[in-house]
Amino acid sequence: MIRTKDHKTLNMFDSLDHLGPRRRQLLEQSWAPVFRKEILPELPVEQVAPFYSEQNGAPTKELYAMLGLMLAQQTFDLTDKEAVRQFAFNFEWHHALGIGDDSDQSAYVSEKTLWNMRRLLTEHDLYQAMFEIPTKKLAELCGVDPSLQRLDSVHVFSNMRHLGRIGLFVRTIKKFLHNLKRQCPGSSGFGKLEKELSERYLHKQKTSAFSMVKPSETTKTLQALAEDLLVIVRCFKEDAKVNSMSSYKLLMRLFEEQCVTENGEDGGERIQVRPNKEIASDSLQNPSDPDAGYDGHKGQGYQVQIAETCSTAEEEPALSLITHVAVESANKHDCGALIPALERAQKLGLAPEKILADTAYGSDDNHQKAQEQGVGLIAPVPGKEPGGELSLADFSFSEHEKVSACPQGQVPFKQSLNKTTRTALFARSTCATCSKRSQCPVLEGKRGYRLRYDGKQLRNARRRAFEATPLFMELYRFRAGVEATMSQYDRKTGVKHLRVRGFKNVAFCATLKAAGINLLRATAFINRKDSGAPGANTPTGAWIHLFQANGGLIRQFQALCSWILEQFRDFPAGTPQHLSLSANGAV
Ligand code: SF4
Repeated sequence: MIRTKDHKTLNMFDSLDHLGPRRRQLLEQSWAPVFRKEILPELPVEQVAPFYSEQNGAPTKELYAMLGLMLAQQTFDLTDKEAVRQFAFNFEWHHALGIGDDSDQSAYVSEKTLWNMRRLLTEHDLYQAMFEIPTKKLAELCGVDPSLQRLDSVHVFSNMRHLGRIGLFVRTIKKFLHNLKRQCPGSSGFGKLEKELSERYLHKQKTSAFSMVKPSETTKTLQALAEDLLVIVRCFKEDAKVNSMSSYKLLMRLFEEQCVTENGEDGGERIQVRPNKEIASDSLQNPSDPDAGYDGHKGQGYQVQIAETCSTAEEEPALSLITHVAVESANKHDCGALIPALERAQKLGLAPEKILADTAYGSDDNHQKAQEQGVGLIAPVPGKEPGGELSLADFSFSEHEKVSACPQGQVPFKQSLNKTTRTALFARSTCATCSKRSQCPVLEGKRGYRLRYDGKQLRNARRRAFEATPLFMELYRFRAGVEATMSQYDRKTGVKHLRVRGFKNVAFCATLKAAGINLLRATAFINRKDSGAPGANTPTGAWIHLFQANGGLIRQFQALCSWILEQFRDFPAGTPQHLSLSANGAV
């Protein structure tokens, strides 16, 4: 049975009335009021509700509070146990999640319920809406200008052990043997294997021998492991039941990625372990997290792509809001992340006009695709800059990318186009005597000096020329600010070392943590904006609280109070002329 509360209707009585002014101020400046007022009523309960029966079963926990709990848990990087305790006893959380009483029904949730809700959100990708809805709302509330954004990625470690190749073989074989023993213990399953082989991996003392391998014996040990792997794979090759086991599929993946078979001298099958350099970066890293990849610089795990808004007005810092979060395996190149980020921001109604990114995102392809979407990519051109002081950008071109003049003002005597490559020929007599000859990209040929280029080279040369201008440097320096975001993202939410593993779980945590960063930043922004300006954060009584629901009424009430004070102005000391009037009308 579904249980939800209407969080949009304001409570007639002030739930903070019992707090002293200091504690009240602390609470009002925390994340809780922004969350309760702006985000809690907008959480995507309607997407979660269809997974529960409206009529049958035990009543659910209040669904808005449960979704809020998911977000708060990730924001503050809490374990399930810690989150349950905060939900039960923390008044700040109660205020944020709209929990109005201390009954177990409202303020208690078990770890299992928490786990079930997380699984529901993860399996059905519902957490995306939990990022998008609050982001849109906060952008609207804080008047965020999305025209300039920056994009970068951060490496994330999931909760898996980092294994070497020997460890990977042992763990994968062991996992399969454990499952086989449990699921197919008979003579057609686990009993089919030699006792010595299975004991080598399942017996604790024998397995420990694999962790004490001398570096000089690594190749020999790996070969022995590969031979065991071949025996196991071949033994169950035709067994449909074993073939369908996920641990057997991992064994097969390991076999294909790490080994190669060939015909032996005796006519039988021989297995060889592939050399390290032949192992792909998307190969299996650990059987307990098959989705993780490998990055040559940062290691095993995942990466999170983050795009955020930024502002160039330094005197009046604006709110930087994360507009895009995408999790991918660590082996993926950053290059492919730009266009999905632009598409997502567009879908969210927060599309940028310019986006700042580092060299990894700055390919010509990305530059062109971004331009097609009306977005200017400000990123250095990847690759080595061609030598010489003069480049293609120093030549003048006509509309159709034909050379109209060289840097010395000379016109080519012939031009041709071969598929995508253009050639411009300059007279030998002109170039041979030119003072810029040694710096010029033209090469001597049979018919004269030739300049060969294609559209991509020309675009890159122009971009490189732009990179050297003060305008580029002035804009590009704001890209570095994204590093501070990454640092905050990790310090506040612990995103770099997650407690979960598997792509979906990592994506769930990283996405909600980014939503949490948006919430914390928006809170700080609102407090900064409101400091010195009493308004929403000033103490309010129950009646004033009611009047706040209507701006017109509160202004009328203030005017009435002012008029009453005016009437008491001439009264002697001790009479109400000493009363003061706060901005919200409280006397
Ligand atoms: S070398 Fe030839 S193409 Fe190059 S600048 Fe001199 S005249 Fe122009």
